[in-house]
Amino acid sequence: MSARPTYSIVAPVYNEVGNLRRFYREVVAALEPPEADWELIFVNDGSSDGSQELMLELAAQDARVRVISFARNFGHQIAVTAGVDYASGDAIILIDADLQDPPAVIPRLIAKWKDGYEVVYAVRAHRKGESFWKRISAKIFYRLIHRITDINIPVDTGDFRLMDARVARVLQQMREHHRFIRGMTSWVGYKQTGVEYVREQRVWGETKYPLGKMIAFALDAVTSFSFFPLQIMIYISFILALLSLLVGLVISVLRLTMGEEFFGGQATTIVLLLLLSSFQLFFLFVIGQYVARTYDESRDRPLYVIASTVGLGEAQAANQRSPSQPAQALAKDDNVAELQTEVAGDAGG
Ligand code: UDP
Ligand code: MG
Repeated sequence: MSARPTYSIVAPVYNEVGNLRRFYREVVAALEPPEADWELIFVNDGSSDGSQELMLELAAQDARVRVISFARNFGHQIAVTAGVDYASGDAIILIDADLQDPPAVIPRLIAKWKDGYEVVYAVRAHRKGESFWKRISAKIFYRLIHRITDINIPVDTGDFRLMDARVARVLQQMREHHRFIRGMTSWVGYKQTGVEYVREQRVWGETKYPLGKMIAFALDAVTSFSFFPLQIMIYISFILALLSLLVGLVISVLRLTMGEEFFGGQATTIVLLLLLSSFQLFFLFVIGQYVARTYDESRDRPLYVIASTVGLGEAQAANQRSPSQPAQALAKDDNVAELQTEVAGDAGG
């Protein structure tokens, strides 16, 4: 096969053993001729359920399948990032491995790319089989993000999308640790468009995004693309100052007309004190979110640690990344060297 496939399909995998075979079959079916030139990059994000063995089996049967295995679970967005880092196609397609993003939609993304769009994102026209709570929270989340961020992040779109290699190269230079990939691809610009699709039910297993992770993800999204939570404080402080002036005036008038006793209780003071401290603590939390992220970025640890890779030998070495990401590049080079010996001993697979 050619060293540089036209399409790179990137699928993050965290305990999806019951989905992988069917996922692979559907990808193959979606990319049959004329779109025959492709690679499928599985990023194993620390699975512990036999997904790894199954992916290696698929890679052994089909040379177009590559596997990147992390040393532990690093999270969905980081897994997608590694896939994009290693993808060598002219177009890169991000897709979940749980079949909620149907591979059958891929040809429609490709068609738009051929029309000249650099980013083609898939818009969820309808979500099947997700709880009322998940649907409502997602609806609110996407609209809030759309409103308060400075870039135009389309609503109801996940990471299911196609991006041109030009966009992927920009993404490869964005080494931030708290990642909101759909926002980052919007940020890049170029010509972008959407394709509507029906988000399917998970075929097997359950969501890896429980409430806590969803909140953390939402915080990453907001802090990555907006200073609104910081700026809103100035308005609230004005409102509170005005309110205190008004209340002071009203109480003075009441006391003058109705006597000393009026509003003399300590209860009012205590309630107000607690209310204001809760406000202040809340905004300390908001500031803390930005400070903690700044700290994280300044430490600049590698985004992920790779335990092993399969199928990425020479093609990867020939496709070196830009020198703008020293920490990451180092980790990768080590790995590529390791891998080449691995592949050499494993020829014919
Ligand atoms: N995933 C991952 N690492 C994680 C969580 C999820 O690689 O820490 C993968 C998961 O295997 C799936 C995709 O990311 O292929 C989307 O996750 P999930 O389906 O749990 O999210 P949901 O569709 O419920 O939002
Ligand atoms: Mg899913």
